This record gives sequence, C-alpha cells and structure tokens, in this order.
Amino acid sequence: MQIKKWSALVLGATLLVGACGTQKSNTQTEVKPEPISDHLVNSTLWFQRSYEAKYTFEQAYRHAGTLLEQNVQRAASRGRRMAVIIDLDETVLDNSPYEARLVVNNESYNEESWAKWVNERSAAVLPGVIHFIKKAEALGVEVFYVSNRSVDLMEPTLDNLIQQGLPFADGEHILLKEGDSDKTERRERIKQTHRVVLVVGDQMEDFMLEYTQIYDEATSDGSDRAPISGVDSLSQYFVILPNPMYGSFERSTYNGNSVSEAEKMEYRKRALNVNRKMKQ
Ligand SMILES: [Mg+2]
Repeated sequence: MQIKKWSALVLGATLLVGACGTQKSNTQTEVKPEPISDHLVNSTLWFQRSYEAKYTFEQAYRHAGTLLEQNVQRAASRGRRMAVIIDLDETVLDNSPYEARLVVNNESYNEESWAKWVNERSAAVLPGVIHFIKKAEALGVEVFYVSNRSVDLMEPTLDNLIQQGLPFADGEHILLKEGDSDKTERRERIKQTHRVVLVVGDQMEDFMLEYTQIYDEATSDGSDRAPISGVDSLSQYFVILPNPMYGSFERSTYNGNSVSEAEKMEYRKRALNVNRKMKQ
C-alpha cells in the first residue's frame, strides 16, 4: 500500500508536495520544509524599513521626555532618588535582525540562536532612545534597564549598551531575569530606594503592575494633591512602544508554547476576526 501511495505522489508531485508535509520518502522527490517563521516577514519589514516605525519611536520618546519633565517636577520635592524603569528588547535595543534570521533560516525562536545573537553584541539602539535617556540623566533621574534577557547574558548585554553609548550601563542598573519572567520583584527592588517617575516598554507586562503601585503611592503619600484617575495615571506614567513581531498578543492565540509551529500558525489564523466591528 505504501509503495502505491508514493507512486501516486511522485506522479502528481507538483500538486501534492505541499500536502506531503514532512513525510519521509525514499524517492528523489525533494520535500521543501514548511516555513515556520514566515508570519514574521511583514512585521519585521515594517519594523526595519517603514518610516512609520521610525517616526512612531521618535514620537513616543519625545512624549516620554515631556512626561518625564512633568513627573520630575511633581516628585522633586519629595526628597527621594528618582528612577525611570525601561525595558531593553524592542524598547531600547533593536533585535529585528534576529527576527529576520528566523525567517531566513526557517527557525522558530530558541535559546541557542537567541544567545548567539546577543553574544554578537551588535543590536542597534532604536530611534529616540539615546536622547531620552540622556535627558533623564540630565534631570538627575537614574535609568534602570529591566529586561527578561537571562542573567547569563549579562556580559554581552552590558557590552552592547556600553558600545551604543548608553548612560547607566553598569551592573547596578541592569536587572535581568534570574528566574521568574514576572518583573514585579525587580521593580520592587528599585522602589525600595527610588521613586519611579516613568516606565517605558513594548509589552503591557512591562508596566501593568507598576501602574497600580505608582497609583497607590500617588494617593497615599500624604500630599494634598487630588488623586489622579486611573486613566490619567496610566497615560502620565507609562509609554508603550509598538512591537508587531512578537508578544503576548501572539501567545494568547495558542495559549503558550505547548503546540507545534505548524499548529501555532493554525491558531493564529483561527484567531483572526473577519467580522470585527468597532465598539463606540
Ligand atoms: Mg521588550
């Protein structure tokens, strides 16, 4: 039976190769592997080539600078050291070449290829970052880089930031992942000695909990300032940056990593909404 099946496949090779998937054959028919990272093509192109991406980053960091000035003015009289908490990947550093390699090499994200990329120490800084961080430094605000890069990658990360001329590139101001990817504990550590005046990231997880903490502090510090509303607080203390390449938006479509790459694509497609209507 198997021989008959394969004979039929070889005869109809042009149409059926794709459907064969990864089945092994002892014929000479070359079966091209299914692309597993092609979903990254357009988002990576947008990130690397679009004027919109460049301008969005510059605009967001200009806005971050304005908020920083306002928040420093509010906090200055309270007599604590001030801090900005900022994410690293796709917030400060541009790892889109790594995403491009996933497409070209037909790989999905893995720790080995990621570590290889990080060890090259060649990630560029995204538009607007340097100006913003130098502004923070000039205002007397310390910048803490809180990232979910593994702590094993501290040395190349530090080198990369130093090479890019970023202030506060030192062991005290870079907090990488030592266990949990939840950044709450690391933010708490900073809050023990500093008043956090702004948080910048490309994922809501970079600051969702921080939002609550800042809000609590703003309303319970004994000042006579009227409590700020949740929405105002969010927009006053957080700046979000665009990352169409990866993030929780994607993971939420297939509930984590327990499915194969081929299945992930199916989950993503199934999550598309062909009837979405805007809610007013
Ligand atoms: Mg990030």
